[in-house]
Amino acid sequence: MTVMTPEEFQAAYPQVIAWIQKTITAHRSGEKRVSEFGFPRLPFYVSTEFLENVSAVIVDRVPVPPLSKIGLRRFAEIEAVDHDGITYLDTYFIKRTRASDEALHFHELVHVAQWRALGPERFLRTYADGLERFGYRNSPLERMAYDAERRFSNSPEPFNLEQLVLSQLS
Ligand SMILES: [Zn+2]
Repeated sequence: MTVMTPEEFQAAYPQVIAWIQKTITAHRSGEKRVSEFGFPRLPFYVSTEFLENVSAVIVDRVPVPPLSKIGLRRFAEIEAVDHDGITYLDTYFIKRTRASDEALHFHELVHVAQWRALGPERFLRTYADGLERFGYRNSPLERMAYDAERRFSNSPEPFNLEQLVLSQLS
């Protein structure tokens, strides 16, 4: 399979980012700051600024961009999956059944740090590229999130999430 060309990405990017902005705006009334969940461990891994400025939305089904409609049929399988969580910029969505799962919130916070570090365009390009080359679970940005989540779940010793992401991206 040939990978997505820079031209394909450039054509799709404005539509994807517009859909993301629209989706975040549409859910604004239902969003909560991460700090409002009162998770006991997160404050040891991320800054207060993070907890106060990142939002979470609890939903029945997490929203996924209409990638096929945008012309990215190669990502059709991502659309079909019932995801547990998904992160767009400083907002993440989590399925209602997993709303109190602190490790899943942590996983999504790794993606928030990635969005911030890379910026929207580079995040989406890197994410799409990793998805095509390695598949969902082994794409570099997901591997980073799953590895950090595992460390969060298996060890009581805190680490700085934002620093970890920055060092792994550099
Ligand atoms: Zn993830």
